[in-house]
Amino acid sequence: MQTINQLDALRQHISALRSVKRRIALVPTMGALHDGHMTLVEQARQAADAVVVSIFVNPTQFGPNEDLDAYPRTMERDAELLRAAGVDILWAPQVAAMYPTGFATQVHVDGPSNGYCGAARPGHFDGVALVVAKLFNQVQPDVALFGEKDFQQLAVIRQMARDLDFALDILGVPIVRDADGLALSSRNAYLTADERAAALALPIALGQAAAQIRAGDDVGQALAKASADLLAAGFAQVDYFALADVMTLEELQHFDGRPARLLAAAKMGKTRLIDNLAI
Ligand code: AMP
Repeated sequence: MQTINQLDALRQHISALRSVKRRIALVPTMGALHDGHMTLVEQARQAADAVVVSIFVNPTQFGPNEDLDAYPRTMERDAELLRAAGVDILWAPQVAAMYPTGFATQVHVDGPSNGYCGAARPGHFDGVALVVAKLFNQVQPDVALFGEKDFQQLAVIRQMARDLDFALDILGVPIVRDADGLALSSRNAYLTADERAAALALPIALGQAAAQIRAGDDVGQALAKASADLLAAGFAQVDYFALADVMTLEELQHFDGRPARLLAAAKMGKTRLIDNLAI
């Protein structure tokens, strides 16, 4: 595995790779890798002949009062995991290489960016779209893999790739969970033991709401009960608990059998957790 920090070196390595490998996959991450990320890497190896993983804690997707400085950074361990997984290139640029002085471009994806995390974290998806557009241009992958854990992010990136004619396939990978059901997340590292135990209420509430909605119960009532259950279990705040159309992410008040997704975000202590479940 080549670990690369400079764009000109990346371009050289990508063109060398392209002369011997037919299909290149990109897995963008912010590091602090866990089994969810490594599942994306495994799927990338199956979907392509060469795998590039990026690790970049992207400042433009963090709000002013968010956890940019505290975000876990475990580069050496991450590099070991990626090497053992057979990754070809680890692309780990510095902030100044991605956003040099004078950087002036923004990317805003309307539609799927609106609502949910887009409402709770203003500007977050602009930062995500910007960095992913840059990564697509830098690596020029044939396929890029993203987790369904960040369901709204996946919808935003699909929309952007369509709108801006990025010639690549976008693959969504199902959520990887701990044995007890909590979705794996780099931010789970912030949780105390008590918070970690209480956080299980999130996947439980999603499962119960999904069962109620599938059984034909009133959607509004199922969502209200789920939010109340989270607060009762010790969550400090529920940003949203909603039912959405899987394609447009339009909020649904009724379930009519079309593919839909429950989406939720809530704060356990200071840690914001997100999760979602197919209906
Ligand atoms: P992050 O490092 O949090 O930006 O995540 C990098 C990629 O890994 C994103 O596409 C995430 O959706 C994906 N990912 C993170 N956690 C999980 C998980 N538990 N299961 C599946 N994919 C995940």
